[in-house]
Amino acid sequence: MATAHANIQALTAARFETPAKFTQFCENGGQPLGGYIGGQSVPGSMNATFETVDPGSLEVLARVSEMAESEVDRAVAAAQAAFAGNGVNGWRDFPVDERCELVMKLVELADRDRDVLLACEIRDGGKVSELAEGDVDQIRACAEYFCDVAKRIPLGDGPSQEVADGVRGFTYREPWGVVAGIIPWNYPIVLTSWFMFPALLSGNCIIIKPAEDTPLSALYLAKLAEEAGFPPGVINVLPGRGELTGQAIAEHPGIRYISFTGSPGVGQHILRTCDRHGTRMKREMGGNGSAIVLDDADPQVVARMIGRHANQHFGQTCCTIHRVFVDKKIADDFIDAERDFFENLKIGYQAEEGTQLGAVINPTQMSRILRAQADAIARGGEPLVAGGPAEVQGRKGFYLKPALYRTNPGVHCNPQEVFHTFATICPVSSAEEALELANSTPYGLGASVWTKDVDRGIALAKKFRDGTCQVNCHNSIAYGLPYGGQGISGGPGAGVNCEETFRDYTQVKAVYVSEYPEA
Ligand code: NAD
Repeated sequence: MATAHANIQALTAARFETPAKFTQFCENGGQPLGGYIGGQSVPGSMNATFETVDPGSLEVLARVSEMAESEVDRAVAAAQAAFAGNGVNGWRDFPVDERCELVMKLVELADRDRDVLLACEIRDGGKVSELAEGDVDQIRACAEYFCDVAKRIPLGDGPSQEVADGVRGFTYREPWGVVAGIIPWNYPIVLTSWFMFPALLSGNCIIIKPAEDTPLSALYLAKLAEEAGFPPGVINVLPGRGELTGQAIAEHPGIRYISFTGSPGVGQHILRTCDRHGTRMKREMGGNGSAIVLDDADPQVVARMIGRHANQHFGQTCCTIHRVFVDKKIADDFIDAERDFFENLKIGYQAEEGTQLGAVINPTQMSRILRAQADAIARGGEPLVAGGPAEVQGRKGFYLKPALYRTNPGVHCNPQEVFHTFATICPVSSAEEALELANSTPYGLGASVWTKDVDRGIALAKKFRDGTCQVNCHNSIAYGLPYGGQGISGGPGAGVNCEETFRDYTQVKAVYVSEYPEA
């Protein structure tokens, strides 16, 4: 069906030429890329390497050394030494302005090498340029926001109060010391920035554990951090598999705080591990996002907007839309328009002009998605766009077609996060019924209401059991507002990108001081 709103389209690729500097970085003089510990590139003590590939062409981009338990020990020791210094010149003692200066120097270098970082997102991460460009912009935006926060929120002594005769008390706020960020593959640069800037600016020394599918951007950022002049040990990067490198990080009692972004199952597992030795943790996890379309919405326009959001990074965005509840009065027109949008997505190689739906990240994801597509039909979903494997001429890669199903209330064919352009549309009789269905999931990350009546939309949106509630928009993120999950999608802590996030990277103590007792 043709619509009058052809300008609303899926995020789209411009042709991307891989810069020579990226290729050179990946080749690393014929050696595997090492981890980055204490200011040096370090090979893994197990002598094990893994390949990171372009998911749309299966070209091997780089060989990377896998970091084991002993590298985790080394990184923790390097970070502890950098944190403490010789008692006066550790990272914890750096004035905020000096921390900000180094962070902004790193940002300038990232701007200089923007094309290399874009190559990391597009080639290693399989992303289309329209999205990758926005992701790389987050480095500066996030750094500037947290430099401002760091200058405004004082650490150290809080105001003193009289707590008893001759006794005063005050709070003392300080960084944790060594903190680790465990990062998933879908937004490596964005999520590394969201972790590293608040963690560093509040005075911690950090260990970044990138996902095994996308280790290149974190390793490149470490190289830039060295050039920017960060003291050795302040920033460390440990590439490797989750069950090995990640697990060793979770088990290390020298790491005081872990910021995890990834799937709920892995997050729950790490939380239990950390709890055994008292490491604190915050978790930003998956979702099964919903959208409610009210009866006054224009079905064609809103279907295209929802299609664009459902296909953001080919549906591999944590908060994106997978479940749509639409008023029965406009359901048929809405479904026609959504089917039209899904069917017309241009499947292709992510660095080729015009691609809107590229390959998924790895074969495991591919089989999970195919299984979920089969399950949706087995559980009563009526296929509108059938899914299944896709062919892209001249390319080997993990290509899949989008999937869209019609359901009814009571048909549970979409119970779990399916990380692809995969959505169900359920016609409903009222906004209240839609809200009840939208909230009937253990996830709680992002949800939206679509209506011309914005006040009605706001009233409904506030009733979502989600960390991000939206009216006529979705996948929304702004610095200064928390981005976090409810239910199994996140917590504890405030989420990311707000002042509370900065405080999450600090701990607070109570200090009591009494006058010296008279003899
Ligand atoms: P994942 O949970 O499989 O892996 C995430 C990270 O954890 C990777 O670095 C992995 O190596 C590591 N890991 C795996 N097992 C581990 C273990 N036993 N110990 C320590 N670390 C371990 O997730 P993924 O497939 O990489 O990413 C997709 C998931 O991330 C989706 O669920 C998505 O919704 C979620 N996500 C959430 C947000 C958010 O902000 N809420 C953002 C992006 C992605």
